[in-house]
Amino acid sequence: QVKAQGRNAIEFFNLGMADKVSHQLKLESELHKALDECQFELYFQPKIELSSGHIMGAEALLRWNHPERGLVSPGEFIPVLEGSGLMIDVGQWVIEEGCRTLQQLDQMGGWQAGMQLSLNVSSRQFRGQHFVDTVTRILEEYPIPANSLDLEITESVIIQSIEDTIATMSTLSSMGISFSLDDFGTGYSSISYLKRLPVSTLKIDYSFIRDIVEDRNDRVLAETIVTMGQLLDLSVVAEGVEEKSQLDILAAFGCDYYQGFYFSKPVPLAQFHALLEVRQPVALEV
Ligand code: C2E
Ligand code: MG
Ligand code: MG
Ligand code: MG
Repeated sequence: QVKAQGRNAIEFFNLGMADKVSHQLKLESELHKALDECQFELYFQPKIELSSGHIMGAEALLRWNHPERGLVSPGEFIPVLEGSGLMIDVGQWVIEEGCRTLQQLDQMGGWQAGMQLSLNVSSRQFRGQHFVDTVTRILEEYPIPANSLDLEITESVIIQSIEDTIATMSTLSSMGISFSLDDFGTGYSSISYLKRLPVSTLKIDYSFIRDIVEDRNDRVLAETIVTMGQLLDLSVVAEGVEEKSQLDILAAFGCDYYQGFYFSKPVPLAQFHALLEVRQPVALEV
């Protein structure tokens, strides 16, 4: 009796595993198809310069227009891409699409010299054998100024291999591309590496901003990052700013750049272009 139950439990467990595996495989094949059938799209979230209230650039964020499920967020599929090796191909698509968009924005008007488009690069993509060659080839194909491109990497890239990271970043930055450290403060902080890496921007992670009004620890950490950025001559972007009260605290610390729902959600290209066209300072009741 007990034995039979045990066996059933094991069978049930195995079935669960099988379900999980088949779900994963289904997602993987759907993602393959998504790439072939152009179901991916970039959304754009403005970055704001506080002193002028103007848009100084944007971050491109990947979306998947699933034929049945509608718009799917990266949190759901980036881990699957990373696990399957598809991330390299999709990551390459992101860079191509980002450069194509820059060319388009330039033709449409509204995109000013000095503005930058930030693209997220996954650790696996960055460390891939052909990353530098791929970026170089894409820049040859799309004649956009390399200094309008910013690549967002996370601290996890750096800790894998500091020397390789420096080499890759140095090559790309000598071409004019700049780098931001994304989700800064959440990984193994690479404070000692900061001065060796050609990084121009630190992005304070959303997790420090979310409760910044109530949580003294988060305030201390955010202020420390802003101060460190200033001392090292780096720009600091606060990401995930949703409310005026959060902005006020960060502004008092001297944080110059912002990205968050308070200013705008990530939006499709046409809407982003419309925001650029307005060309007025973002309304701030400062
Ligand atoms: P991330 O690079 O840190 O991007 C910021 C995330 O915060 C975005 O989520 C954005 O929509 C969200 N966000 C911005 N402002 C606010 C706010 O005020 N409140 C809240 N609650 N959230 C805000 P999203 O688009 O879902 O992307 C999640 C993550 O997926 C990104 O985090 C990035 O790590 C990854 N990702 C997105 N696009 C790409 C891509 O093209 N390539 C790679 N490798 N990763 C990507
Ligand atoms: Mg990012
Ligand atoms: Mg981030
Ligand atoms: Mg994040």
